Amino acid sequence: MKQLEEAILKYGSAINEQVLKVDTFLNHQIDPNLMYLMAADILEHFKDKKIDKIITIEASGIAPALMVAYQLNVPLVFFKKATSSILNEELYQCQVHSFTKNKDYTLTASKNYIHEGEKLLFVDDFLANGEAALGAINIVKQANAEISGIAIIIEKSFQPGRERLTAEGYDVYSLARIKQMAANHIEFIKNE
Ligand code: 5GP
Repeated sequence: MKQLEEAILKYGSAINEQVLKVDTFLNHQIDPNLMYLMAADILEHFKDKKIDKIITIEASGIAPALMVAYQLNVPLVFFKKATSSILNEELYQCQVHSFTKNKDYTLTASKNYIHEGEKLLFVDDFLANGEAALGAINIVKQANAEISGIAIIIEKSFQPGRERLTAEGYDVYSLARIKQMAANHIEFIKNE
């Protein structure tokens, strides 16, 4: 998506060849107009899919996911990152390895908000190794719900997340796909 690629080039900074910082418009300060345009683009891609709810992971997924939920007029459920992994019957839980923090957390969702048969669109800010998305999918499967698709704001295509998700048959739609990056250099893959 052109406006997102422009924002990444203007405000993004590659901390190293693996991690991109976009605090100016996505991960700290948030640009609501850009969020709105991105949500519309995501919904255009998934317009033929049935979507009952949007799901994401706290905290950075919430802003883009909320815009998608608002435009589609469906609820947003964000999965929480718990520090305790004590089993709780009220919750769906799954261990996830955090790419940015290099440690594990327990992804949790209350059984009250994800139900059998629901069709869910997963929205997240970044796709790297796919651990967060696969954790969310694990929870959706525990609930006997279904994934309608996976929408990502920034995909780092040099990492294996997309391959792992498409190998399992999921429709992965990313608004910006980074082929490679280094200090002062970010190169995109063009979406067909
Ligand atoms: P994955 O689970 O696909 O390995 O990593 C995705 C999660 O890690 C995202 O939810 C995001 O919060 C975080 N993440 C991964 N790579 C980056 C990055 O380059 N920059 C930022 N800001 N977050 C990232």
